[in-house]
Amino acid sequence: MNYYSLHHKANNASFKEAVINGLASDRGLYFPTKITPLPAAFIKNIDTYSNTEIAFKVIEQFVGNDIPTKTLKKIIEETLNFDFPIVPIEKNIGALELFHGPTMAFKDVGARFMARCLSEFNKNNKQQVTVLVATSGDTGGAVADGFLGVKGVDVVILYPSGKVSDIQEKQLTTLGKNITALEVDGVFDDCQEMVKTAFLDPEINRTLTSANSINIARWLPQMFYFFFAYKQLYKQHKELVFSVPSGNFGNICAGMMAQKLGLPIQHFVASTNINDTVPNYLKKGTYNPKPSIATISNAMDVGNPSNFIRIQELFENDIDQLKTAFSSVAFSDDDTRAAMKEIYANSSYIADPHGAVGYLGLKTYGLSKETYGVFLETAHPVKFLDVVEETLDTTIEIPSQIQSVLHKKKTSIKISNYVGLKDFLNG
Ligand SMILES: *Cc1c(COP(=O)(O)O)cnc(C)c1O
Repeated sequence: MNYYSLHHKANNASFKEAVINGLASDRGLYFPTKITPLPAAFIKNIDTYSNTEIAFKVIEQFVGNDIPTKTLKKIIEETLNFDFPIVPIEKNIGALELFHGPTMAFKDVGARFMARCLSEFNKNNKQQVTVLVATSGDTGGAVADGFLGVKGVDVVILYPSGKVSDIQEKQLTTLGKNITALEVDGVFDDCQEMVKTAFLDPEINRTLTSANSINIARWLPQMFYFFFAYKQLYKQHKELVFSVPSGNFGNICAGMMAQKLGLPIQHFVASTNINDTVPNYLKKGTYNPKPSIATISNAMDVGNPSNFIRIQELFENDIDQLKTAFSSVAFSDDDTRAAMKEIYANSSYIADPHGAVGYLGLKTYGLSKETYGVFLETAHPVKFLDVVEETLDTTIEIPSQIQSVLHKKKTSIKISNYVGLKDFLNG
């Protein structure tokens, strides 16, 4: 299996090369040269397969011969050792809970898969690799947890100071060992830009790779749970609409890949907060990235979503095709709080701010009798404890995964610009 760069200047890469490089040498994102739909019989009989069997069938063609079958199966089993339930919220709406992993956000799936792939590729290699990653909140914790103690790998996490929740900050600044947190005086897009610059800076004397969703090993495993959702729902014989709370648009783009593989999904809604670059693009036809604005759904505070270019590629850069397959709507923090209250009052379900934005996307899209809407519950509400408790006037029990980091001491290094990052990496 080959990957090409979406800037079309760099050479094609194998799965292994693309995972290790993160980004192609021309700064383009990697994209598979070929996407072969899965056999119809597999989709039809999906309930006869276990989640790990499904995941193997889904990812196999994208890994090719770069990882032996037995090892790939083991990586998948270790990655997916938790549940992906759909919780009914209303008659034709369910929440796909993606937060039952160790750091309680969907990013555990991609981070755990990628950490294991990289560890496999690096097992006979004496040179250290540095995973450099920018986080808007949840990636940092998931990557830190996924890579903690992995031999031959150092992890450097950039996060925007004061713009992640307290629990998210604890998850990425307290682990120590091979994990370092850099606290950036800026917004998420600054962190993301610095990471991209470092990759192409010939003066950096380390081997760098990325664990953001630009990395195919973080991005592609996110297809898995769209299949798991279908497995739970297909007996209802309804058309499926997925609303994906979106920031960097990696998760929704993985859902669209699942659709390309033959998964029957009728429509996607990309639900955003007021960082509305994509909703504006669909409305006006011009793509105008803006600096990100802080919101209560902070993991989606992205003004220049890096995966949108992959979505455009999937739809042959044709805005009309794109508009048929998906819609995108933006919601304010007030809308989000009102939705959290509505869901809690009507269904006794505590949604986190990101899930609530996803729910609003379904409501705005409008569901007919023949459709069933799924919104992705991308993180556990406890990760946004202050906002959730204040909005719903209730208390949330703190799960053990989170309890264990709360008393730990934060350690971070403050930087304010690219020179700070470069000095740290070369120091
Ligand atoms: C990262 C994140 C998102 C956004 O996902 P993208 O793939 O960047 O669009 C949404 N919700 C939560 C809780 C997240 O951590």
